[in-house]
Amino acid sequence: MSKIKIAELFYSIQGEGRYMGVPSVFLRTFGCNFKCAGFGMPRGEVSHEATDIAATHSMIESFQTYGELPLVSTGCDSYASWMPEFKDLSPMLTTDAIVERTMEILPENNWQDAHLVITGGEPLLGWQRAYPDLLNHPKMAKLKEITFETNGTQKLTSEFKDYLMRWQMPDLEFQREITFSVSAKLSCSGEARHEAIKPDVVCEYQEAGHTYLKFVIATEEDAEEALETLDIYRAEGFTGHCYLMPVGGVESVYTLNNRRVAELAMKMGLRYSDRLQVPLFKNEWGT
Ligand code: SF4
Repeated sequence: MSKIKIAELFYSIQGEGRYMGVPSVFLRTFGCNFKCAGFGMPRGEVSHEATDIAATHSMIESFQTYGELPLVSTGCDSYASWMPEFKDLSPMLTTDAIVERTMEILPENNWQDAHLVITGGEPLLGWQRAYPDLLNHPKMAKLKEITFETNGTQKLTSEFKDYLMRWQMPDLEFQREITFSVSAKLSCSGEARHEAIKPDVVCEYQEAGHTYLKFVIATEEDAEEALETLDIYRAEGFTGHCYLMPVGGVESVYTLNNRRVAELAMKMGLRYSDRLQVPLFKNEWGT
């Protein structure tokens, strides 16, 4: 039976993108190929918030659960889902164990919107081989809408792509709606452009599911970079929607940016994505 290292598994409202407002199960896998230490920082600088927390944790193992971890106002807001210093907080679970936990956290009655978000970290790293076991489990059949929240750098394996494409075949007992929510990283993330912008990879997602881009930005300069980058994806054959979403994993930063980013989206003819988990739940772990 396959196993997946799970950072978090929780039930909340999807705060971003196509399914904003939809009650959803979030499966946060462990591991990421990026650090995104530039978010919320002046250009060219990197955040040390997460590394400072990690240093404390390594010295005195001060945090026993995700819920005890501090939130950060700069850098990656889900830092503990990929930093090696926190790997002890993320158990390796069999797909059967993940299914059981998923069933436990779902409300018992009247569950109408069957949406599963597989997020990270970067969920399309090595775990692609385990998802068919998880999604084929009979109890998971009610989860008919599935979103992968990815940074858009990881190619689908041919086996996993074929598996996802089969959900679109009309002769199935039930079909699944697969979505790729691609948060491609612009320079404000601190990641190198040649590593972060992979139009060929993202265009291939389109064959396996509904695919859209979501750029996290703060300034007009970022928005202009998003437009230029979108052109690069379009030239490769990307046909999906494009959202602008404000930087800000904590309310003080989010409220500085959200209105400006919404206005930039209107000016540029792009979609605005909120991050509702911030005003609703303060973006606490498990929300
Ligand atoms: S890609 Fe996402 S999870 Fe990975 S470091 Fe960047 S913001 Fe964090």
